Amino acid sequence: MKTYRKELWFEIQTRRAFINITSDIQTCINESGITEGLVLINAMHITASVFINDDESGLHHDYDLWLEKLAPHEPVSQYRHNVGEDNADAHMKRQIMGRESVVAITAGKLDFGTWEQIFYGEFDGRRKKRVLVKIIGE
Ligand code: ZN
Repeated sequence: MKTYRKELWFEIQTRRAFINITSDIQTCINESGITEGLVLINAMHITASVFINDDESGLHHDYDLWLEKLAPHEPVSQYRHNVGEDNADAHMKRQIMGRESVVAITAGKLDFGTWEQIFYGEFDGRRKKRVLVKIIGE
């Protein structure tokens, strides 16, 4: 069995964003030389997510409004976590959108369902953050 590990770095200039990282993950698979196996992609921060869904801007706008209804950023004083920081909402948004995704690799490609794409979800940006890519297989 072969293994591969890489960290992808992000520095998003806004508080929240969704970034399509599918091509970055395919590049990792190509670098790994693994053609049959699994790829795990996880945010290494507790205020960011990795998730799979459609690359459709209306949906991403809807996600942002939905998450902001569930866990509004303002007023920051509504959260007990926000003593000396202001990112309690980002922890909750990450919890809903998830920590990681796992995708099968078949014949050297991401073995997706129709319309599936991989996204990095940022909920407390404007600083450097990492995503771990771990691939195992043959
Ligand atoms: Zn925090």
